[in-house]
Amino acid sequence: MKSISILGSTGSIGTQTLQVCEDLDITVNAISAGSNIDLLEKQARKFCVKLVSVYDKNLAEQLKKRLSDTDIEVLSGEEGNVAVAKYAHSQIVVTAMSGMIGLVPTVAAIEAGKTIALANKETLVCAGHIITKLAKQYGVDILPVDSEHSAIFQCLNSDKQNKPKKIILTASGGPFFSMDNKALENVTKADALKHPNWSMGAKITIDSATLMNKGLEVIEAKWLFDVDIDSIEVVVHRESIIHSAVEFDDDSIIAQMGVPQMYLPIKYALTYPNRIASSNHRLSFFNKTLTFFEPDRTTFKCLDLAVKASKLGGLYPTVMNAANEQAVELFLNDKIKFTYIAKIIENALDNISPKYDPDLIESIILTDRLTRQYVLSLIGE
Ligand code: NDP
Ligand code: MG
Repeated sequence: MKSISILGSTGSIGTQTLQVCEDLDITVNAISAGSNIDLLEKQARKFCVKLVSVYDKNLAEQLKKRLSDTDIEVLSGEEGNVAVAKYAHSQIVVTAMSGMIGLVPTVAAIEAGKTIALANKETLVCAGHIITKLAKQYGVDILPVDSEHSAIFQCLNSDKQNKPKKIILTASGGPFFSMDNKALENVTKADALKHPNWSMGAKITIDSATLMNKGLEVIEAKWLFDVDIDSIEVVVHRESIIHSAVEFDDDSIIAQMGVPQMYLPIKYALTYPNRIASSNHRLSFFNKTLTFFEPDRTTFKCLDLAVKASKLGGLYPTVMNAANEQAVELFLNDKIKFTYIAKIIENALDNISPKYDPDLIESIILTDRLTRQYVLSLIGE
């Protein structure tokens, strides 16, 4: 059986990954989180990990004291995340951190030859051109955890001889499906955090409400499957039963289906290429209705803003992603209205033109920082 490290073990993907590990007896060697030391301590003891990292230095000191009766090593900061990513005995690294902060440890994991089970889409959005090249160079597999990309991966694996004509990326439409701009002016944080089908971390839940999540996923698919961005079609499918599909030259479409639970794509990434039985995850077709709609790109501008950034290329996806991360944080802190998120991203893309070398990780980190500062300056912070 494989053994793994998890970056972001206390979050939605991280905790579900640990559930899969518990059910399948997968060894967990190293885990990291941002600040939740209560849960980290419980996880570290339960899974008998060898290494734990918490980003915040002071909290790492507290955790070290709490775990002083064990042999568990406790680290902090980016150094700690990198150590978790490179942990010698792990074959797979699950990148379950939220945001661009996942970039440096993901690069470290690839350079250490680890298979990447990739949930952290922001990394691929900003640095897909670097990550995919590096993965090839080190002969490392990047296995998608995102449900849509896991679906596409499975569909493509079913016909390796033919290149797909189209990738059909499904979207739930989020909590504000069919609402117009006027109605969106009055939505609250609580409304935006109520996703109809999936229970996820706060940032991705807001991204799902703005449709930015689908924009990020279009870019993620472009890099993961080496396809032209214009060959990716987004289809709103409210029930989240078809997780995505691929269309071939003969107009035949192969789709992947299942219950909307991340347990399944996480398990597939950890056990690939095998398929392991699990209880209580069976999809029954009876009494189900599947519906499909075109996305409303006029009201939910984030989808096209992401596509635009990807087509501009270079460091523009980083500008778009950083503006989004900062705007979502401001929204979650009650500093801006929901409708401001797209406006901020559009403003950043119109006014920031980074001139650094896009092939350097340092340029991505710098552009991310400058864009966040720019966004904060827009609201006088
Ligand atoms: P959560 O917000 O639930 O979890 C984020 C995790 O990252 C937490 O463990 C958090 O720790 C940790 N973290 C934050 N900052 C740092 C840091 N500086 N160093 C180390 N760890 C850190 O997010 P999700 O699990 O929902 O999402 C994670 C990623 O997976 C995102 O990129 C998302 O887009 C993607 N994804 C998520 C899906 C889902 O269903 N949730 C589906 C598909 C993709 P702490 O708890 O201490 O803050
Ligand atoms: Mg998804």
